[in-house]
Amino acid sequence: MRIWATAALLESGWARDVSVEIGADGRIASVAQGDAGGRARADAAVEVLLPAPGNLHSHAFQRAMAGLSERRGPGTHDTFWTWRDLMYRFLAGFTPEEIEAVAAFVQMEMLEAGYAASAEFHYVHNQADGTPYDDAAILARRIAAASETSGIGLTLLPVYYEVGGLDARPLAGGQRRFRTDLDHYAAILEGAEAAVRALPGDARLGIAPHSLRAVPSAALAELVTWRPDAPLHMHIAEQTGEVEEVRAATGKRPVEWLFDTHAVDDRWCLIHCTHLTEDERRALATSGAVAGLCPITESSLGDGIFDGAAYLAEGGTLGVGSDSNIRIALSEELRTLEYSQRLRDRHRAVLATAERSCGRRLYDEALVGGARALGRDSGAIRQGAFADLLALDAGSVHLEGLAGDDLLDAWIFAGDDTLVRDVWSAGRHLVQGGRHVRRDAIEAGYRKAMRKLKETL
Ligand code: ZN
Repeated sequence: MRIWATAALLESGWARDVSVEIGADGRIASVAQGDAGGRARADAAVEVLLPAPGNLHSHAFQRAMAGLSERRGPGTHDTFWTWRDLMYRFLAGFTPEEIEAVAAFVQMEMLEAGYAASAEFHYVHNQADGTPYDDAAILARRIAAASETSGIGLTLLPVYYEVGGLDARPLAGGQRRFRTDLDHYAAILEGAEAAVRALPGDARLGIAPHSLRAVPSAALAELVTWRPDAPLHMHIAEQTGEVEEVRAATGKRPVEWLFDTHAVDDRWCLIHCTHLTEDERRALATSGAVAGLCPITESSLGDGIFDGAAYLAEGGTLGVGSDSNIRIALSEELRTLEYSQRLRDRHRAVLATAERSCGRRLYDEALVGGARALGRDSGAIRQGAFADLLALDAGSVHLEGLAGDDLLDAWIFAGDDTLVRDVWSAGRHLVQGGRHVRRDAIEAGYRKAMRKLKETL
């Protein structure tokens, strides 16, 4: 198929009258600019065409908890840890059917927000009482099945989760649904790999040791040797409590310990780099690894603020993820990242450079970091890359009279994701006129799942 755009953001910058031809393999076959006559031959004509980024971190099932965690717990402060207790209780009601229905809905919302692909950090493996399913990978298969329904480009990251802390305490309560050992994990990975292979060719499998809290160092040393070409994601330094726990057990901070122990390179994506020293930040910035940031969730959970200004100045790579999925909003994710820097530094336009506006810089970073973290050949309108594309609503009042990077700034800082009109994931035209093509059925499945889940609370 052929898409024609009045204006498009190419690798070389903004271009006019752009034709993009997409092959049957979902990749961009050719890009031509200055092709005013191409409009007549196009299957779809749009005003503003952008590469669509990948969402680098999601726990799909947590979407069902959105709005249920805004009351204070019994202590003086409500914290990440009380939120986590609610999440564990909530989890007990999920059967494979609900996992799939909620995941399909979440993926649909991601597409409607402008994400073409998603890395699912999938850590619910067992039955509610902790007993493994006969098919170890059944829930991973359900995530893959959801992506078949939604059409999103999936990077499936089955999670390894063995213990409840650095002291190797056993998992308790809701955590037992996550429990793996190396044999069990190998079975999950094998099943997940088969499910991914049955999806379109842009789907990927990765490895995800949950965190230094949940994965003993010997298991981590083993896991990094498995599927060495696959993306590898891990939670790293979200909470000060977790930093202290790692320091008490190892004498080092999480990022410091990781870099002293492992060869961290561009296959790694470290999720929540909230609490880093300058040395840790510099090591990460020069490693090629991606800092996986989730600004809306990190705000929601009161985690802290990532030092984005210094990290980018040191050449670091970052991308964004919707994590807890309390709110799935690409433009807001980027805006929240920039605003967190402004509130801390009491400056404006912190992440802008001399050449690039704030919106352009944030968007470029999300494209590069998202593609690298997902192990996905995308992130640019370029011949050979997967056709992950989005079109903005040029008729929106927010974009009136604007062109170039001002369009991105207006979308991210003044508008919202209702400006996203069309989204293609590896050439699949899934959002049309602002709406996912299967929204009615997916939404009905989600409502049904939510009614059932609420009864079990
Ligand atoms: Zn997470």
